[in-house]
Amino acid sequence: MTYGFDLDGTITSHPAAFAALMESLVKQGHVVLVISGALSHMPLTKEDKTDQMRMLSAKIEPMIHYHDLIVPTEKTVEEVAKAKGRICRELAVDLMFEDDLDYIRWIKRYSPLTACVQVRA
Ligand SMILES: [Mg+2]
Repeated sequence: MTYGFDLDGTITSHPAAFAALMESLVKQGHVVLVISGALSHMPLTKEDKTDQMRMLSAKIEPMIHYHDLIVPTEKTVEEVAKAKGRICRELAVDLMFEDDLDYIRWIKRYSPLTACVQVRA
């Protein structure tokens, strides 16, 4: 199966629990993705994106096991939410852990086959 995990408010709210869960899933051969949105009103350069990814990676490594870190960068929260939904559909995410109910609504709209678990902070 393919699992998606939001970062801020999800992994960051329960890092030890998610570290254990994600490590177990990776070891069992599942695909584990961190899908975290970012806001920017400026088009990001390749260097900006590299810096952003490095910063986010540093936030979750070394304890979190995952295959890929995906960060859609959009101008508004709604655009980020829609992008997360499209990513879940394109990557066939079976189960997404997410703290934000608005994001969950957009994920369900864009990717109806993705089940979502709302994580409480
Ligand atoms: Mg979040």
